[in-house]
Amino acid sequence: MLGLVAFILGLFAAAPAPAKPPAPLNPASPKLVVVISVDQLSADLFDEYRPHFTGGFARLASGAAFRNGYLAHAATETCPGHSTILTGSHPTHTGIIGNTWVDQSQTRSDKTVYCAEDERVLGSSTTSYTVSPMHLRVPTLGDLLKRQSPQSMNVAVAGKDRAAVMMGGHNVDQRWYWDGKSFATDVKSARIPATISRANAAISASIATAREPLQAPALCQAKATPIAVSPEMLVGSGRFARAAGDLRGFRASPEFDGAVLAIAAGLIQELKLGADQAPDVISIGLSATDYVGHSFGAGGGEMCLQLLSLDRDLGSFFRVLDSEGLDYAVVLTADHGAMDIPERLRAKGILQSVRADSALGTANIGKLIAAKLKLSGPVLLGDLANDLWIDRSLSAKDRVRVEREAVALFKAHPQVEAVFTSRQIARLAIPTTSPDKWTILDRLRASFDQQRSGDLYVVLKKYVSPIATPGGGYVATHGSVWDYDRRVPILLWRKGMRPANRQEHISTVDILPTIAAEIGLALPPKLDGRCLNGVEGVACPVR
Ligand SMILES: [Zn+2]
Repeated sequence: MLGLVAFILGLFAAAPAPAKPPAPLNPASPKLVVVISVDQLSADLFDEYRPHFTGGFARLASGAAFRNGYLAHAATETCPGHSTILTGSHPTHTGIIGNTWVDQSQTRSDKTVYCAEDERVLGSSTTSYTVSPMHLRVPTLGDLLKRQSPQSMNVAVAGKDRAAVMMGGHNVDQRWYWDGKSFATDVKSARIPATISRANAAISASIATAREPLQAPALCQAKATPIAVSPEMLVGSGRFARAAGDLRGFRASPEFDGAVLAIAAGLIQELKLGADQAPDVISIGLSATDYVGHSFGAGGGEMCLQLLSLDRDLGSFFRVLDSEGLDYAVVLTADHGAMDIPERLRAKGILQSVRADSALGTANIGKLIAAKLKLSGPVLLGDLANDLWIDRSLSAKDRVRVEREAVALFKAHPQVEAVFTSRQIARLAIPTTSPDKWTILDRLRASFDQQRSGDLYVVLKKYVSPIATPGGGYVATHGSVWDYDRRVPILLWRKGMRPANRQEHISTVDILPTIAAEIGLALPPKLDGRCLNGVEGVACPVR
C-alpha cells in the first residue's frame, strides 16, 4: 500500500507544472546578447593595457566600464569563475567549487571528478571525461531565456569545454569547444553547422604549417626582457613561433582566440542569431590569454602580443556584427585574474613573491602525518592552496587526529596565511557586502558546497605561487583568495551608449540581473547578484 502511495505521489511529483504563458520580453531590448569571457584577464592587465587598446577592447571600454569587478569567491579557477558569470550565483549555489574536486564515494578508481563531466558514464575519468553540465546546480541566462521565450536561441563557443558548459548551461542549441585537436560538442542532437566544418579544416591546415615569430610593436618590445624561471626555461621574449603540428603552441597563441571569434561570427551569421524579434544569446569563451599567462606569465612580451592581437580580433568580430545590421549588446569579463611569475615580480620590487615550498605538497604533509600517527594510506587528498580532503577510509577518531595534525603542520609554515576547517566555513552566513570588503573566510564561504567541498582549506600568503617547480611549460597560475586573482573588468556596451567609467566594486554575479533587466527577463527569486544601477538602457527593478 505504502508503495502504491509513493508511486502515485511520484507520478504527481513528476507531472509538469501547468504551462504559464511566457511573460513578454522588452520589445526595445537588443536582439542579440553577446557575452565574452577572456580567461585570466585580470583587472590589473586591463588597467595596464587600456590606454593602448584601439580595437574591440576600446569599443567596449567606451560603454559602461567597471574596472573593479570581482569573482568574489575564494577558488579563483576557470570552472567556478565561469559558473558565476551568467547565473547570478556564487559557487556556493552553482555547486562548482573548483575545476575538479575529490569525491571519495566514487566507485571508479579515479576519485577526482571534473567540473564539466558526467562521471556516471562508464570509462569517464578526470583526464578523459564525458562533457556534461550536470554538476551546475542553477540555470544560466540562456536556460532562463529559453523558458520565457522558446524561440530564442542559446549558443556557446569557447576554447575550453568548461567555459562553454558553465556559460551555456543545460539547454543549449549549439555548444562547441576545442577538444585538443578540433572543435567538438556534447550536444549530440545538434546538426553540425557548416561554419564548424570549415573552421576545423582551416585550423588543422594552419596547425600543420610552421609559424614565424610575430612582429612585436614597440610597446611589446619594451616588455620583452627574458627571465629564467629554471635553468632550462626562459620566458618574457617569446613571439609565438612554432613548429608544424604543435597543438600546444597553437592553443597558447593569439591564433586560438582568433579561431574562436571567427567561429562565433560564423555561427551568428549561419544560425541568424539576433535576426528576429526573439532575443538570442551567444556566450564566447576566449581561452588563449589563460594559456599564454600559464606558459609565460602576465608581465612579459608574450602577454603584450596576445592582448593587442585580441584587441584587433575583437574589433574585427564586432565589425562583422555591425555589417549584419544587428542590434546587439555585449558584456565582457573574465573568470579570474592571475599572479605573474615571482621571478619577474621580485625584479619589479615585490620582494616577498616566491614559489611555494615543495614540502607543503599534500602528499608530503600526508606522509608526515601518517608516520606520526602510525596510519597508512594517503591520509590527505587534493592539491595545495585549495580544498583538502581527509581520507574517509580512516576511522572517525583517526580523521579527527589527522585534521588536528594537518592544521598544526600547515599553520606552522611561514608561507601559510591561514587554515580553516569546513565547520568554520559552513557556519558563516553568505556575505552580501561589497566584495572588496570581504574577509578571507567570507571568500571561502562563497566557494563552499556542503556536499562537494573539502574538510580543510589552506590559504597561502599573498604573492606565494603554488607552483613550487615550473615545468611542462607551466610557470604561473591563479586560484588564490587574493585580489590579483579576484579582480577583473566588467564591460557593458551597446551601440550609442555614452561612456561611463565606473569605479565601484561589483561582482560577476551582478551580470545576470543586469542583462535580465535590460531584456525584460524574469529571474528566480533568490540570486546572489543585484542589478547594476545607472547603466544606460537598463531599468533595474525597484527593490
Ligand atoms: Zn580560467
